[in-house]
Amino acid sequence: MSQYYCFECAIYLGHLRPAIPAALTDTQYQLEKYIKHTAPTSNYNFNSVFTSPGSETYGNYIVTAVSSGHVQMDDRGRKNIVWVGSEQTGLTYKNRVLIGPTSAVKVVFHDNDQMIHGFPIDSSELNAAKCVNCGRAVPY
Ligand SMILES: [Zn+2]
Repeated sequence: MSQYYCFECAIYLGHLRPAIPAALTDTQYQLEKYIKHTAPTSNYNFNSVFTSPGSETYGNYIVTAVSSGHVQMDDRGRKNIVWVGSEQTGLTYKNRVLIGPTSAVKVVFHDNDQMIHGFPIDSSELNAAKCVNCGRAVPY
């Protein structure tokens, strides 16, 4: 079971310690993730792609997520940051066929400046949950 922390509690409890490098595509790993999530023709069975593929937009989404999103801690202790936008963030594809729009962004490895990256997700993937610290509903 994943545990959720609202933004304020995540900060207070020290679960949100973003490490954002000057360039988000400096490592080979990050570059591959960036290309995967900005180029809709890449070879993946399932993939999500940002609507605006520019590296500046990509960086803005990641900064926005870690500066206002909530924390989703999975049962392996991994901390993902999820931010739900008011606009479309990207599109999902399955076997290169368009499935639909996304309205949220997930950032993984947020505290590792060599691996941090993000990708658009559909907000319907998010379970209705409460912050385990204060009981506030997340993501809202
Ligand atoms: Zn809370």
